[in-house]
Amino acid sequence: MFNIAKIRADFPILKRKVNGRPLVYFDNAATSQTPIQVIDAIVDYYSNYNANIHRGVHALSQEATDKYEAARQKIQRHYNIGKIQEVIFTSGTTHSINLVANGFSSLLEKGDEILVSAMEHHSNIVPWQMLCERTGATLKVIPMNLDGELLMQDYYDLLNDRTKLVFCNHVSNALGTINPIAEIIEAAHGVGAAVLVDGAQAAPHIKADMQQLDVDFYTVSAHKVCGPTGVGMLYGKEAWLRKLPPYQGGGEMIAEVTFEKTTYADLPHKFEAGTPNICGGIAFGAALDYMNALGFNAITKYEKELLEYATEKLLAIGGLKIYGTAEHKTSVISFNIKDIHPYDIGTILDKLGIAVRTGHHCAQPIMDFYKIPGTVRASFSFYNTKEEIDALVEGVERAKNMLQ
Ligand SMILES: *Cc1c(COP(=O)(O)O)cnc(C)c1O
Repeated sequence: MFNIAKIRADFPILKRKVNGRPLVYFDNAATSQTPIQVIDAIVDYYSNYNANIHRGVHALSQEATDKYEAARQKIQRHYNIGKIQEVIFTSGTTHSINLVANGFSSLLEKGDEILVSAMEHHSNIVPWQMLCERTGATLKVIPMNLDGELLMQDYYDLLNDRTKLVFCNHVSNALGTINPIAEIIEAAHGVGAAVLVDGAQAAPHIKADMQQLDVDFYTVSAHKVCGPTGVGMLYGKEAWLRKLPPYQGGGEMIAEVTFEKTTYADLPHKFEAGTPNICGGIAFGAALDYMNALGFNAITKYEKELLEYATEKLLAIGGLKIYGTAEHKTSVISFNIKDIHPYDIGTILDKLGIAVRTGHHCAQPIMDFYKIPGTVRASFSFYNTKEEIDALVEGVERAKNMLQ
């Protein structure tokens, strides 16, 4: 069903060596690798129809526009988005969140409340803090337990008629927790609050359905889902996108400009000032095609096997502790061994050709919660194998023996 040898052959980078050893790439939560189908789409763009979009009468410009808009439709289908004008191309999740946070500056007032979950990425904390400074609104935190699960009763208790916005990631990049966003959205709507879900970390694992979730905003970065860096999407319900003011001014986002007054272009172009990452958008579409051809059910099943295998093997190492033990989680393992510094383990693994992430994973509040400086994070993708996990376990054992 899942032909792993064939899948790995699609990823040229998996053939390379690092420090004389075959690359074992376990930093998928930071960025995913790129299959040849996506690389080909990028080469095709620059080789055959590189041109600016939506403006030229010439053939290349038409072709580029058609392919770019076709990519927008692929995103729409993938996330089951009701209307095409609800799909905004951005440079990624960080850009998407800042666009919304900026827009809400004019909609909030002193005394309003914004809720964020305790397990957010910095890109989903800092823009809201800046928003609170501008508006006098207050930021409140939905707490979590030691397994890395949100305390839902505390969340329900925090909600009230002053709550205007709720922000939560679909999947935590540091812990792998899959959050109960359907419940979170429904409860927020019960008090009239809007919800933004950061879907960056969910994208490679879960095919989210915007209409079923009834979410107000959802963000994705292409580079977490086998696409290129510097491109992503913001989904927003049309009514909200009409309410929010434009984020940046420039070409492409205007209807008419005079020195006295400018009128803005209609959605989605109102939020797409300047020449976009045209090639990146097209490649994002190609990446979704690639993932859908594999099938998200098959991907989830295989990654679950990898997660269970790695969890069992790693826990057999004396003194190893895993952070993030939620019942529902993706294939991410954050761990430490006693008080050995994560960076030292990461450095030894790198010498063995094994790429993991060490540090706070842009989620310092989570590290403060566990009272640790950081973790070693191994995150698995559908192109990884059990043999690679064996290499990781052997490497971690070796690091432990050298460092303790
Ligand atoms: C990667 C990630 C981000 C940031 O994405 P960018 O592409 O750097 O904008 C935000 N939130 C989560 C949960 C992530 O995993």
